[in-house]
Amino acid sequence: MKLIFEKSVSKRAGFGVPKADVPKPADIARKYKRKEAAALPELSELDVVRHYTKLSQLNFSIDTNFYPLGSCTMKYNPKFTEKIASLPGFSDLHPIIAQLGNGRFTQGALEVIYETEKLLCEITGMDEFSLEPLAGAHAELTGMMLVAAFHKQRGSRRRYVIVPDSSHGTNPASCSMAGFDVVVIPTGRDGCMDLAEFKKRLTSDLAAVILTCPNTLGIFNPHIKEVAKLAHQKGALMYYDGANLNGIIGKCRPGDVGFDIVHLNLHKTFSTPHGGGGPGAGPLGVRKELARFLPIPRIIKQGKGFRLNNNHPDSIGYVAPFYGNFGVILKAYAYILFLGKAGLIEATEAAVLNANYCQARLKEYYNLPYERICKHETVLSASLQTRQGIHALDIAKYLIDQGIHPPTIYFPLNVKEALMIEPTETESKQTLDDFISAMIDIAKLTKTNPRILKDAPQTTPVRRLDEVGAARQLNLCWHPEK
Ligand SMILES: *Cc1c(COP(=O)(O)O)cnc(C)c1O
Repeated sequence: MKLIFEKSVSKRAGFGVPKADVPKPADIARKYKRKEAAALPELSELDVVRHYTKLSQLNFSIDTNFYPLGSCTMKYNPKFTEKIASLPGFSDLHPIIAQLGNGRFTQGALEVIYETEKLLCEITGMDEFSLEPLAGAHAELTGMMLVAAFHKQRGSRRRYVIVPDSSHGTNPASCSMAGFDVVVIPTGRDGCMDLAEFKKRLTSDLAAVILTCPNTLGIFNPHIKEVAKLAHQKGALMYYDGANLNGIIGKCRPGDVGFDIVHLNLHKTFSTPHGGGGPGAGPLGVRKELARFLPIPRIIKQGKGFRLNNNHPDSIGYVAPFYGNFGVILKAYAYILFLGKAGLIEATEAAVLNANYCQARLKEYYNLPYERICKHETVLSASLQTRQGIHALDIAKYLIDQGIHPPTIYFPLNVKEALMIEPTETESKQTLDDFISAMIDIAKLTKTNPRILKDAPQTTPVRRLDEVGAARQLNLCWHPEK
C-alpha cells in the first residue's frame, strides 16, 4: 500500500516544474535543519475524526436549531439551490472566460445574471439592477456613490443624508464613507421615523434619505409616500435598504412607494446561508435616470445573445472583481423561479404571521414598546425584567441552554433592552411554541429563580465572555500552556 502510494505520488511530484528548479533538501543550510524529529502529535485517524466531528457539532446553525436572529434573517435555505450552484457547468467556469470571445463561452452564465436582474426589477419596481456588490453594506456604499455621482452631474453639491435612529449601523457608516454627513431622525411614538422632525431637517442640501421599510422594529411606515414626496421636492433621492424585504415581497414594491435606489441582501431573502461573514450578494437596483451610474460591466442582450459592456462613461466603475458572487446569484435565480410569484407571496405571509404570533403570545410577559401589527419581525424589551436585575443578555444566554439561538439583543438602539425576534417563514408552529414556552419560562424564572438566568449558559464550552475586554485587548494567539 505504502509503496504504491509513494510510487504514484512520486510520479506526479514536480509536475510542470522543471526538475532543476525543484529545491532539494540538501539545499537547506545545515544550521537550519532539525536535530531531532518534530514533536508532532501522534493520533489515530479515529481520534482525528472524532475531534473534528465534535468541533463541527459545536457550531450553532439553522440546520440544527431555531435561529430567530432579528434583522439577520437566518431562515432555512433549501438545499436544491446549493446543488444547482455546484453543477460543474457553472462551478467550473473561470471568471476571466466571460471576457473572452465576446462572452461566447459563457452565454448561460450571462443569461442567468441578466434574467436575475430582470426578476429583481419586477420584484422591487426598479428599472435596472447591478448584481456586482457583494453584501448589503457594500451595496449601500455603491448606492451612496451613485447618489454623489447623480448630484455632481447636475452641478449640485449636497452635504448630508437622513437616516432614522432605528437604522442598521451600516447605513450611517456607508453615508460617511461616501463623503456625506449623517443627520439622524428620532423614532416617533408610532415606531416610525418622526415625520415632524423629518420635515424640520429638509433643506436643499439633502442628498438622500436612507430607509428600510418595514423598519428594524418590523413596522411598515404608513407615511412612506409622503416622506418620498417631501424628499423629492428637495431634489433628494430615496434609498431603500432591502434587508427587510421579507416582510413585503409580492405585497408592495419599493419602487411603487417612491424609492429611487434599492439594495437587496440575497443572503437574507433569496436562499443563501450566511453567518460568519459570507459569501453574500447585495444587488443594487435603480430607476432609469440613475442607471448610467451603475457599476461596470453591465450585461446587455444583443439579439438572442448576451454580452458584457464596459462602455458606460458615467459609471462609477468596478466595485467588485468580475460580476459579483455568481454562485449566490445563481441560487437566488433558482429560488425565485422555484417559488414563483405565488410562492414568494406565501413566504411573505407566513413570515409575517409567524412574527405576529410570537408578538401576540409574548406581549403578556415582555414589554412591547410599539404595539402595532408587525411585519416579519418584532422587537420586545426586557425592561420589565430589569427590575429583578435580569437583562436582555441574561435571557439570551439562558436560551442557548434551551437549544435556541438568542434573538438579536440591544438592537435597534432606540429600544432599551431590545429583544429582536425574526422567526422567518420556514419554521413550524411547534418550533414557535417551543420558543414561546422557553421565553415564558424565563419571564417566570425572573421572579422565582433569577440566579439560574445569571448563571447561564451552562451547556456551552465557554461560559460568559468578557466581550469588552476581548475587544479592547485583542489577542489572537493560542497559548495552550498558559
Ligand atoms: C443585514 C443588514 C444590513 C447589512 O447587510 P450585509 O449584507 O450584512 O452587509 C443593512 N441593513 C439592515 C437593516 C440589515 O439587517
